[in-house]
Parts: sequence; C-alpha cells; structure tokens
Amino acid sequence: MRNLLLMCCALTLVACVSPKTSRPQFSKAEYASEREQQASEARVKSDFNDQKDYSQEELQALVKRADPVARKVSEAAAALCRDIQATKCTSRVVIKGGKKGLNAYADGTNVVLHPAMIDFARDDTHLAFVIAHEFAHNIMNHQVDLMTNVAAGGILGTLLDVAAQTQGVNTGGAFGKLGAQQGQLTYSPEYEHEADYIGLYILARAGYDYPKAPGFWRSMSRANPDSIYIKTTHPTNPARTLQMNKTVEEINYKKAHRLALVPNFQPR
Ligand SMILES: [Zn+2]
Repeated sequence: MRNLLLMCCALTLVACVSPKTSRPQFSKAEYASEREQQASEARVKSDFNDQKDYSQEELQALVKRADPVARKVSEAAAALCRDIQATKCTSRVVIKGGKKGLNAYADGTNVVLHPAMIDFARDDTHLAFVIAHEFAHNIMNHQVDLMTNVAAGGILGTLLDVAAQTQGVNTGGAFGKLGAQQGQLTYSPEYEHEADYIGLYILARAGYDYPKAPGFWRSMSRANPDSIYIKTTHPTNPARTLQMNKTVEEINYKKAHRLALVPNFQPR
C-alpha cells in the first residue's frame, strides 16, 4: 500500500520536459487588478459570432488580409529561430476555410488558422501575434514535448494500475488515463506563456506595434469570459496579459540599450 501511495505522489510530479525560457514574472496584486479589469470589461459581452458561415468572397477577403501578415511574421520567426539556434525554423500557414470557432494551433509543421480567428483579430498587430504565437510553438518543439509528457504520465499511471492490481484492486486503467492527463496539464500553461513570450519577440522583430499585442487577451476575455478565471491547458487571460505586458517592458529595455532582440533562456 505504501508503494501505491508513493506512486500516487509521483503522478503529481510527472513530466519529463519543461519550458526553457526565463520569462518576466508578475505579482499577485497585479494579477488581482488585471482580473478585475477584465471582468469589468467583460460585462459588455462581445457580440462576435465564432460559428458564422463565411461566404466564398468573405473567405477570400480574410485570406487576402492574412497573407501579407503571415509572410511578415514568418520571416521574422525564421530569423529569430536561427538566432536562438533552434532547428524548426519554417512552418506553413494554413487557413482552414470550413472550420468554425475562435481557434488557431500549431502541429509541429503547420500553423493553422480558422477563419473566425482572422475575422476576430481585426487589428493586424493582434492577427500577427496569433500567428507569431503559433510559430513559437513550432520553433520550440512544444508539440513533441507535450507528447513526451503525456506518454511519461501514461506510463507512470499504468505502472500504478498494475501495482493496484497486485493488491487486488482493479482500477480499469484509471491511473494510466489520469497520468496522461496530468502529463499534459503539468506544463501546458507554461508552454502557452512561452509561446506568448517568444511570439512577442517575433512581433517586435517583424516591426509590429508590439505593445498593443497584450490587448488581444482582453478582447478574448470579452468573447469568452470564462477564460478570465479558468486555467486549463491554457493559462487564464489575465495571466497572459500581464506576462506579455512585462515582456513588452523587457523588449523596450533591450531596444533602448541596443541589445539583441532574443528571448531570455534559463541557464543550462
Ligand atoms: Zn498556444
């Protein structure tokens, strides 16, 4: 039984790969104030419809708008990628015409955008940020890291299932599933922060008005007020806004002191 308990504890610590950048921090007081601000703004809920059916002409207009932004971001992302000696420096930007929902994601090779996301990010800086954030996921290999963490959690959980079985308890594979889930959740929000952090550097290098980018999360909070409070695989929007505000200060400092515009990394 003691072994079972030990392994249970190990499950909460699972995850083999962690984010690598050293990002600016914010205080609890700053967090409380930003959360209050976003909650008050979200009282006027956004009327944006993310389930809209776009006509062919509307889709073409969205693609036409996104194309030059994607090109600019892609060049800046490739240059930053080389500077930090990463290897996944190019990604293809794909717009999935038939897909609904306010969504964008990176799969390791592509940066995928749903039309509603392009429509929602009406300010080009916001659209550029969404694309830069996804490029950052690919540059940092987050997809692979997350899969490693899910697998590690799953293996540990399955060992626990087997151990339980030797004690006469049939868990039905519950610990395996829990472990995989835990593996995904342990660092997921940190990876999101890391992609926001690197995304802002890409934005600054691409010549966008990067101090406006944190405002994207405030507008997302109006579209989806739950994300002001609920941390899932993604951090809450106030946390993202604050970390990005601090990153803007960090970039401003580097620009003022003519330092290289590269993100800070943890010492190896
Ligand atoms: Zn992300």
